[in-house]
Amino acid sequence: MTMIDIIKNQKAPRKLGLYIHIPFCRTKCLYCDFCSFVSRDSNEREEYVRALLREIKSRGTKEYLVDTIYFGGGTPSLLNAEQIGRILACVRENFVVCEDVEVTLECNPMISKRDVEDAVPYGDGLDSRDVGDADPYGDGDYFVELRKIGVNRLSIGIQSAIDSELKLIGRRHTFEDAKRTFSIARESGFDNISVDLMFGIPSQTGDSLEISLRRIISLGAEHISIYSLQLEEGTPIYRMRNRYSLADDDTLADMYEAVVSSMKRAGYSHYEISNFAKAGRESRHNSKYWRLDEYLGLGLAAHSDFGGKRIENTKDMGKYLLGECVENELEISQGEREFEFLMLGLRTSRGISKSEFFARFGIDFDEKYGEKVKICEKMGYFLQNDEFVALNERGFEVSNSILAQILDFDY
Ligand code: SF4
Repeated sequence: MTMIDIIKNQKAPRKLGLYIHIPFCRTKCLYCDFCSFVSRDSNEREEYVRALLREIKSRGTKEYLVDTIYFGGGTPSLLNAEQIGRILACVRENFVVCEDVEVTLECNPMISKRDVEDAVPYGDGLDSRDVGDADPYGDGDYFVELRKIGVNRLSIGIQSAIDSELKLIGRRHTFEDAKRTFSIARESGFDNISVDLMFGIPSQTGDSLEISLRRIISLGAEHISIYSLQLEEGTPIYRMRNRYSLADDDTLADMYEAVVSSMKRAGYSHYEISNFAKAGRESRHNSKYWRLDEYLGLGLAAHSDFGGKRIENTKDMGKYLLGECVENELEISQGEREFEFLMLGLRTSRGISKSEFFARFGIDFDEKYGEKVKICEKMGYFLQNDEFVALNERGFEVSNSILAQILDFDY
């Protein structure tokens, strides 16, 4: 056997994404139903980090190549850089991590010193790092430390550039705080930053959304994610919903359209229904979810799609701290896989590769879905050729009802 044959016979290791959940927040936003708790106690956070390290050790594998790590939450920036560094070191010891791994950390805008002094009555002996999100005193050390330990992408939860809107949804920061955080992150060397923008906020109008778009785009982030406000049962905003005038479906559709055209004018590509990126700056981690690639979720309430199974971690902090991490493991049927593959793939501008579909499911896409796709194509919602099928911009706007027709479910 020649060296070339040996190389050919060596299988490339499968790629893996890691999602690491940090379930702490400084305060709870009024619309939030994520698994996150208000934390003012650094001991509690340290105890959680130790439990997380134990889980990472127990689930480590050398059979995959980790190419993305995503710290989500919650507010991961409530951990100090030393704690994030210990988590990353533990990942490197227990997994094979590729050299150009994308390491993203979600953070909230830092609040100013004045806000901290005025608004946060913490008398519990916490150090300055504990008082605000990340670095409240603005010297940028926190971000510099994050860069040193290998974090190379930030996702900053800005949501709106209008302070009264931020206040209505219970966010602690102002747009000035967000701008300041963004520029400190840049000065600290972050050249890959994503920001979030929300639409459908109570009291938001087309004009105020335009202002937010202009201000947020002018930051020059590499990536922007957009969300419409969801009124989730059990949240304070849901209980208070009758007090607000909320956007109806038509207004939300107009807002979405306005967002898309502003982003495009600013040079962002609309690569997924809710995500925009400058060239080459698409989120590598989130793309795994849309392509059904494997990922392992670590931490409280984290989900995994790993080894053909969907794994759900416990939401019970007491159990998690005792090492009882996994709540459920479910085999995923071929039918479910096929549904997810189409549903998630069609959220992206790349769409679905028909040959990849055949390789995964042994089904000819055109035979099974061709007729329905043709009808929607005639209506102007799809683009397709011999290899790819994708929703176009018009299709993105009504994606739920189009997908319901193609995939045959009630919407
Ligand atoms: S910062 Fe995020 S996770 Fe925390 S309460 Fe607000 S929306 Fe929820």
